[in-house]
Amino acid sequence: MSLAGKTAIVTGAASGIGLATARRLAEAGASVAIWDLNEQAARAAVTELTGAGRRAMAVRADVSKRTEVDAAVRLVRDTFGPIGILVNNAGMSAFNPFMEITEELWDRVMTVNLKSMLICTQAVLPDMLQKGWGRIINVSSSSAQSGAARMVHYAASKGGVIGFTKALAQELAPTGITVNNVPPGFVDTPMLRAELKDRVDQIAAASPMKRPGRPEDMAAAIAFLASEEAGYITGHTLSVNGGRYSS
Ligand code: NAP
Repeated sequence: MSLAGKTAIVTGAASGIGLATARRLAEAGASVAIWDLNEQAARAAVTELTGAGRRAMAVRADVSKRTEVDAAVRLVRDTFGPIGILVNNAGMSAFNPFMEITEELWDRVMTVNLKSMLICTQAVLPDMLQKGWGRIINVSSSSAQSGAARMVHYAASKGGVIGFTKALAQELAPTGITVNNVPPGFVDTPMLRAELKDRVDQIAAASPMKRPGRPEDMAAAIAFLASEEAGYITGHTLSVNGGRYSS
């Protein structure tokens, strides 16, 4: 699989699944823009990738703010050329009993996890339409497939990502642009560790494969969906969860 000559944006790419995805796409030859709130960590990732001979740049952008996203897209286009691959990965998790979810928290989760997809995708779509080629991969969550207690706001936002993916895939199907989503389940990242703390090993032991997912497991699926070879797949939900949930 080669992504040589492609420009890719990975959001939330300074950590976890996004970082593994940026590494994987860069290995395949793409020029990768590492977007994150954490600029220092994004720069560290770029140092690692460029040190290994890959093409990468760091961009500090909040995916929920249109002005920042539009400016970031211009910077990437000016540096690496038109954008062909967008991985909408940045997100926030939230755990609250249903009756404790305030409207403010609900709005924040929806904005960061779902509205960001609208903003980032609208910002790159003109490049893809002009080329008649594009790959959009959205990171959703298995919680939207299975349900998850104390995650009504989070699961609702990620369910929105799945609906967004299917609807946009239909709309863009004639254009050469595919839109798919990967719902991770229980992946060992800083986000998961922050949530589950010392319960990771216990939950892993109870899971079908007896281990958490690795960010690299998600990255492999995302890279496949970004490839030329996946050109006839669109609107798809590619579950990567070690058998924790099948639909
Ligand atoms: P992570 O290690 O916390 O990485 C997420 C990155 O996104 C962080 O660097 C974070 O920066 C950044 N980010 C957060 N909000 C942002 C914003 N508004 N704009 C730009 N960057 C932002 O998390 P992860 O586990 O890899 O999660 C990646 C995606 O997978 C998320 O969408 C998450 O919902 C989804 N997911 C993960 C799991 C899992 O088990 N890990 C399961 C289901 C779904 P800061 O650290 O500075 O906030």
